Amino acid sequence: MSIFRDLWWFFKQEKRSYAWGVLILLVVAFLEIFPPYVVRVVVDGLEAGTLTGSELGMWLGLIALAGVAMYVLRYVWRILLFGAAFRLGQLLRRRLFSHFSKMSPSFFQRRRTGDLMAHATNDIQAVQVTAGEGVLTLVDSLVLGGLVVATMALFISWELTLIALIPMPLIALAVSKFGTMLHQRFHRAQAAFSDMNDKVQENISGMRVVKAFGQEENEKRSFQKLSRHVVEKNIAVARVDALFDPTISLVIGLSFFLAVAFGGWFVMEGTMTIGQLTQFTIYLGQLIWPMLAFGFLFNIMQRGRASYDRIHSLLQVESEIQDRPAALTARASGEVAFAVDHFGYDGAKEPALRDIRISVQPGETLGIVGKTGSGKTTLFKLLLREFDCTAGEICIGGVPVREMTLDALRSAIGYVPQDHFLFSATIRENIAFGQADASDEEIEEAARLAGIHEDILQFEHGYDTVVGERGVTLSGGQKQRISIARALLLTPEILILDDSLSAVDAKTEEAILAALRQTRQEKTTLIAAHRLSAIEHADQIVVLEEGWIAERGTHQELLLQDGWYAWTYRQQQLESMIQKGGGAVDGDTPVTPVSQPTS
Ligand code: ADP
Repeated sequence: MSIFRDLWWFFKQEKRSYAWGVLILLVVAFLEIFPPYVVRVVVDGLEAGTLTGSELGMWLGLIALAGVAMYVLRYVWRILLFGAAFRLGQLLRRRLFSHFSKMSPSFFQRRRTGDLMAHATNDIQAVQVTAGEGVLTLVDSLVLGGLVVATMALFISWELTLIALIPMPLIALAVSKFGTMLHQRFHRAQAAFSDMNDKVQENISGMRVVKAFGQEENEKRSFQKLSRHVVEKNIAVARVDALFDPTISLVIGLSFFLAVAFGGWFVMEGTMTIGQLTQFTIYLGQLIWPMLAFGFLFNIMQRGRASYDRIHSLLQVESEIQDRPAALTARASGEVAFAVDHFGYDGAKEPALRDIRISVQPGETLGIVGKTGSGKTTLFKLLLREFDCTAGEICIGGVPVREMTLDALRSAIGYVPQDHFLFSATIRENIAFGQADASDEEIEEAARLAGIHEDILQFEHGYDTVVGERGVTLSGGQKQRISIARALLLTPEILILDDSLSAVDAKTEEAILAALRQTRQEKTTLIAAHRLSAIEHADQIVVLEEGWIAERGTHQELLLQDGWYAWTYRQQQLESMIQKGGGAVDGDTPVTPVSQPTS
């Protein structure tokens, strides 16, 4: 019952729907008692030969009236109770979604997307059922059940009531037991189905790799195993399900057997009329639903309780990154100064960054290079406050980023992440993602700067071309440039390009960098790159190695230092010369897998 107590705030909020809904349920329960009584009067009247035609007509009219009233009232309570339950589902879904959007990336790193989706669907559904069907089964099992039993005992025969009811609790017991078993097995069947689904989805999206590696047969075999698993789990569900109906019928049959056997005896003895026995057996039939409902009620409450607790504990998780009470709201601007003593991710043995001291003035460009895993992205994540730097400080214009609101900080930054993401929407909407009210001219200007305008015009629908899963397929370089345009549209104080030019060809890269130098003379630009040509012109360059600054200086200075930078630069120069000689490899064309020999 505690789940109903926990949902009380909602019942209060929807008190009109619930009060009327329950009241109507009560009226329907009373109306249900009436027709069997009419049957009794008619049977007894017929047997005694005292029933006149007009009396019969009146009784039939009353039954019809009660039938029509119940029809209308049942419709109304369904709308009231189930409607309110739907609103609860909507409310919880909204709360959960807004909670998810407040959480910092570390939260999503810890929780699997599938689990979060399950909370947003199955758990909310279970709570919704508690607020709808749960209330219905509670009222029906207690009120309708109690009313029918009381009528049988008080107005017909308490002895017969006691005898006939002996098997009835078995129904509630069976429903509850089978319900739990069904639920568990159904869960396993669902999990098997979702494993199979994942496999199909993975294979469809990774079909090219499967084919390229000649793994069709292996994949088919592992799919067959999963699909056999689904069948087995579903048969396990069907086994319990198949037992359910016969068990219920058996118990009901037993109850009727006792009622007719003892009732017949009472009639022969003359302590009961035939009409009363008929009325009694109809009531017995009417008791089946409240008994079933009683069993359902336990399962509904159990599931609702567990789901509500899961949703509740999820809503209790606070984002690790939050605005401080007196955080500054003015948009960040000025010098970007990193002073990170050390920073490590949860669970990592080694810190990802150590002793980083960098200062970038407005108008300057900072280049960050280093091997994969050297800490380039981590540095940006700290600046963006995706994670908080505990040992050290990052300041913008002299203000620590932790002392600003997230809004003030992030509105000043245009971030093009390494793993760019386009929404299933038009190119225009994708570019205007951070500023929905941007004019067409502004969007085109950003696209021009990002070197993607001409490409967009080549598409049949231009800026209205839909991209993403349901739209046209773009090359890696095109996606990167749309992501860059998205950031440039904001004319941010600080622009971060995290290896965002890796898939564009050298000429386009040069054009984009030149355009950035032109338009961002007053502003700060931070570029991380693998290809050194992307940061060659930067005012200062740092080389990271396992989280340390291994080398720093301008391009010329670094070449003179003759370290990792100089070596890598020469290496890349050589590679590009070979590529030019052997026919340019356009980094902007979608990569097609090279077929592997299968034999
Ligand atoms: P880069 O951008 O230079 O490739 P990263 O900043 O992504 O390097 O990574 C630096 C180090 O931190 C690596 O050792 C990487 O494995 C680790 N790392 C990066 N992101 C996470 C994360 N979210 N959780 C735990 N470790 C991480």
